[in-house]
Amino acid sequence: MKTPSLPAPVSRRRFIGQLSAAAAAISLMPRLGLAADGPKPAKKLGIALVGLGNYSTDELAPAIGQSQHWRLAGVVTGSPEKGKRWAQRHAFPQRNILGYETMARLADCPDIDVVYVVTPNALHAEHCIAAAGAGKHVITEKPMATSVADCDAMIAACRGAGVRLMVGYRLHYEPHTAEFCRLARERTFGPFMRMKGSNSFDMGDPDPADYNWRVNKKLAGGGPLMDMGVYVIQAACMAKAEEAPVAVTGKFGPVTRPRLFAQVEQSISWTMEFADGALADCETSYAEQVSLFEATAAHGWARLEDPAFYYDEPLLTTSRGVVDLPKVNHQLAQLDAMAAEILTGSPSLAPGEMGRRDIAIVKAIYAAAASGQRTEVKV
Ligand code: NDP
Repeated sequence: MKTPSLPAPVSRRRFIGQLSAAAAAISLMPRLGLAADGPKPAKKLGIALVGLGNYSTDELAPAIGQSQHWRLAGVVTGSPEKGKRWAQRHAFPQRNILGYETMARLADCPDIDVVYVVTPNALHAEHCIAAAGAGKHVITEKPMATSVADCDAMIAACRGAGVRLMVGYRLHYEPHTAEFCRLARERTFGPFMRMKGSNSFDMGDPDPADYNWRVNKKLAGGGPLMDMGVYVIQAACMAKAEEAPVAVTGKFGPVTRPRLFAQVEQSISWTMEFADGALADCETSYAEQVSLFEATAAHGWARLEDPAFYYDEPLLTTSRGVVDLPKVNHQLAQLDAMAAEILTGSPSLAPGEMGRRDIAIVKAIYAAAASGQRTEVKV
């Protein structure tokens, strides 16, 4: 698969545009809940992680442990033994270890304010709805669900219960990405009209029996488009100030690892077409290692790379130079900002409606790739 043709990376030592970037960073800090020397909150929010896999274990639990705004107050897991180990390690009571089928008991856990759903994609809806039914605010991992109908049900359940619904879109809270959004929103270079992006991860070629749910269509809902591609969709919408595309075209890539990719695509490329004629050419794959996004306008350009979408600090370069902003832990920045959004009742940068928009786009891309036809996006 071809990767977008980008100019060679620019040295990080080129700090042209540093002053305006620093000003942008400072203005972002309170919004992102990053004021480390600010007053300590009177009470930390209690959070329960649902699904104790890699993302919960390696990223979210450590971020919660570092946060001034959160404490890990419980878990929902299919493994009671794992639950006990987590309760010991994170010092929460055994009564706050729940199973998926007993999530209604969350209603009896007053020390849990928020439930964070980190299970395979197709299970997000069921677990979100159960948490909302127990009166808890919900953060759900991306992709929000595997169908628009499930997204609607999740939004309705949270609205009906009077609780918040947010999607774990960590990059909305990452300073370089937030600055990219500002450039798009304020049309610093004019409206971005040409975009190119790719976000891929090389799974290797393990025996499917040794691999997990990501290649199982029922649990994943699709292949890399559902997983990594959602970030490229997000970046294209960010470049258009959160507008959705009006139509898409799509094409599945070749399958070179057939035993792994029997149920889901190995790779897919697609184009998003916006109302003003802007176009975004995008791709995602489970057999490549690439992560970048660039957007071009009449009076300049901006590029996220090195990598654009992984957990590291992205390199943001514009036609004015490298933009130097603080490096953050993505999960900590996201969680702290979401705590502020919940505590102040302010709108979220990543609400359920945004997750629903992205699933509508994903579904249109799959339909376009299957039919070979330009497909309208109905959001
Ligand atoms: P893992 O496979 O590592 O963990 C998933 C966990 O879900 C399992 O450990 C298990 O926990 C639980 N689970 C419940 N039912 C099932 C089932 N039928 N099959 C498999 N697991 C099940 O996945 P990840 O942690 O990598 O991903 C989880 C979610 O987080 C996904 O939606 C993914 O897209 C998202 N994610 C987001 C990232 C981001 O950057 N925002 C990065 C990585 C993942 P238990 O044993 O406790 O029941």
